[in-house]
Amino acid sequence: MSENNALQIRMVDYPGTVSARDFWKVTHDPIPPLRNGEVAVRLDYISIDPGMRGWITNKRSYMPPVNPGSVMRAFGVGEVIESASDEFSVGDQVTGFTGVQTHGVFKAGNLRKIGLPGVPSYNFLSGLGMTGYTGYFGMSDIGQPKKGETVVVSAASGAVGSIAVQVAKLSGARVVGIAGGPDKCRYLTDDLGLDAAIDYKNSDVDTALKANCPDGVDLYFDNVGGDILSAILDQMNYQGRVVVCGGISQYNDFGNATGPASFMTIVTHSLKMQGFTMRDYMHRVPEALDWLVPAWKEDRIKFREHIVEGIENFPDAFDMIFEGKNHGKLLLKVRRS
Ligand code: NDP
Repeated sequence: MSENNALQIRMVDYPGTVSARDFWKVTHDPIPPLRNGEVAVRLDYISIDPGMRGWITNKRSYMPPVNPGSVMRAFGVGEVIESASDEFSVGDQVTGFTGVQTHGVFKAGNLRKIGLPGVPSYNFLSGLGMTGYTGYFGMSDIGQPKKGETVVVSAASGAVGSIAVQVAKLSGARVVGIAGGPDKCRYLTDDLGLDAAIDYKNSDVDTALKANCPDGVDLYFDNVGGDILSAILDQMNYQGRVVVCGGISQYNDFGNATGPASFMTIVTHSLKMQGFTMRDYMHRVPEALDWLVPAWKEDRIKFREHIVEGIENFPDAFDMIFEGKNHGKLLLKVRRS
C-alpha cells in the first residue's frame, strides 16, 4: 500500500451526559493488508450526524453502540484505492459506514457504488444521501401530506428538515418551518418558499404557532422533541399525525429526557404518532433517488452543505451540530484544500 499516512478518530469511552470533547483520540494505524473480498478506500468526506450522540451512548438503540477504543462510526464517501473484490475496481466512488478516518478497509458487501456525472461525491452524504432519504421517506411515506393541510417541521433548515419541508410543499400543503435564528428562517421562506418560519430562539413558539397556523396543525415532522414537541401537540388538529424523526434537544441527556408535557393531546385529539429510522427504508433507497435526483436537477428541491475542512477538526464539528452552528448537511472534508 503506497498510502501510509492513515489517521483514525477513536472513541475512548462513553461520555455519558458530559461533553464528548475529551472522549476522542487520534491514532495513526497503518492500512491493514486486504483479505479476499475486501477493498481499501481513501475517504474524501465524512458525515457528521446528530445520531452519532446515540452511537456513543451505552444504551439499547436501533444499532449497537460504538465499542470503546474503536474508530468512531460515520458515513463517508471515498475512492477505492485497492481491491480484492470482483465487485469494485480501483477508482470507484463508494459510500457506506466508513468511520471517521482517512482510509479504511471494508468488506465489499458493506459498501455501495455512487456517482453521477458532474455531481460531487459529497452530495451522496447530503440531499442525495441518507439525510435526503430520511426527509423524503419520513414526509412522503409516513407523513403523507395533503393539499391544503398545515404541516410544521422542526430543525427545518437542516439536512433532513430541508428535504422534508420541500416534499410537503410540493404536495400542496401549507408549510411552516421552525429553526434557530433569522438567517435560517430567511432561508426557509426566501429560498425554500415556505409559507412561514418560526425562530424558536427569538420568539415564543406557542404564540408564533397560533399566529402562523390559524387553522391548527395537521401534520408535524419532529426532529427535536422536548418543549417544541409539547408546544405543537397543544395545537394539533383532530386526527393529526406526528412523524417522529429525531429528538435532538434530548440527545445530550438521554437519561433525563421527559415525555412531552401535552402528551394527553394524543388521546384527546386522536393523534397518530409514528417514529422511524432509515433502517426501515434501506431496501427502498433506489426509490428515493428516483425522486430526489430529478427533483434536484430540475431545481424543484434545493439542499446545502456546511463543510468543515480537516479530519482533525472532528471534535469541533461534532459539537457544532448540537449548537446549531451548522447550516446545511454538516460534512468533514478529510483533507484540507
Ligand atoms: P441538522 O442539519 O438539522 O443539524 C441539527 C440541527 O438541529 C442544528 O443545526 C440545530 O438547528 C438543531 N438543534 C440542535 N440542538 C437543538 C435543540 N436543543 N433544540 C432544537 N433544535 C436544535 O441535522 P440532521 O438534519 O442530520 O438531523 C435532524 C434530525 O433528524 C435529528 O434529530 C436527527 O437525529 C434526525 N435524523 C433521523 C434519522 C432517522 O433515520 N430517523 C436519520 C437522520 C437524522 P437550529 O439552529 O435550527 O436549532
